[in-house]
Amino acid sequence: MSQKRDFYEILGVAKNANEADIKKAYRKLALKFHPDKNPDDASAEDKFKEAAEAYEVLSNAEKRAQYDRFGHQGMGQGGFGGMNMDDIFSQFGDVFGSAFGGGSFGGSRGGGGSRTVRGTNLRVKMKLTLEEVAEGVKKKIKVTKLVNAEGVTYKNCQTCNGSGRVTRVAQTFLGAMQTQSTCPSCQGAGKMIDKRPTDADAQGLKRQEEVIEIEIPAGVEEGMQLSVTGKGNAGPFNGVPGDLIVVIEETEHPDLKRDGENLHYDAYINFVDAVLGESIEVPTVNGKAKIKVEPGTQSGKVLRLKGKGLPHVQRYGQGDLFVHINIWTPKKFTKEEKELLEKLRKSENFQPTPDQHDRSFFKRMKEMFQS
Ligand SMILES: [Zn+2]
Repeated sequence: MSQKRDFYEILGVAKNANEADIKKAYRKLALKFHPDKNPDDASAEDKFKEAAEAYEVLSNAEKRAQYDRFGHQGMGQGGFGGMNMDDIFSQFGDVFGSAFGGGSFGGSRGGGGSRTVRGTNLRVKMKLTLEEVAEGVKKKIKVTKLVNAEGVTYKNCQTCNGSGRVTRVAQTFLGAMQTQSTCPSCQGAGKMIDKRPTDADAQGLKRQEEVIEIEIPAGVEEGMQLSVTGKGNAGPFNGVPGDLIVVIEETEHPDLKRDGENLHYDAYINFVDAVLGESIEVPTVNGKAKIKVEPGTQSGKVLRLKGKGLPHVQRYGQGDLFVHINIWTPKKFTKEEKELLEKLRKSENFQPTPDQHDRSFFKRMKEMFQS
């Protein structure tokens, strides 16, 4: 498989297919090319693997977004590609539901020996400021996770004689099928602990603190989950480690409100600046920016600073910063100020003229999308 096919094409689904469609399409292919149904057929096994690889990416929102943006190029890092049969059965067994008897699908593959057992995923929360979201950030976090204890020795599992599998006949909707399922004693590892140090548990693991550096791409959002392959808990019996799942949390910014990739800022100006015009300073995620308030600006006017929002995490481009103009009304004034204002109050130019008035909701909405 040097020239990789498009994942959507492999599963035969549209680019905008939803989760259920993708799962359904994968299930169909997986049942069709299942090794138990195609013994000694290498091309079926290839197709089975290909479908699993496509499903692994398209069934995961973050991986799918990355694939949509970068194609196969973006899948290089983090080991999305090159799945083996063990990975497929241990990860996607649930897709088959009861088709292969109680969902116990793991390890039922043709030939081969015992399989490695996958460790569990580790979940951590990560708080990010808007500034960090804007730039992307590398962060070190300390996690307590399961690691392989040193000095553990293994022996063959007696239940399965080291094969990792037990054979049984299951009634499925495809008819009676002889399936081999994962050995319940060793979880398919074929091994059991012989001797272990006092700090190791029955699976040869112990808890240990570890500092992990995580690279967060720019533009992530509250609730997003990033998975770091292989940084989760170690697999039992010297198996493969699970993933580290990083759940993004956003710290509220004192001035800027986020709306997807756009930002909003409430600016307050005095009415003289609104009448005569002025250049004002507004905060952004990377320092300050200046924006011109035109003479005769009405309260409620929305100004747009193009590209001063946040980057998209799924595609190229950058959001905008919307500056909402509010007229600040003074609450205190001197006698002289009052006299000035009283003069202005009666002046003809200071009488509101509703027909030219541009504070209406529809007009503001229109400006927001056109400016
Ligand atoms: Zn066993």
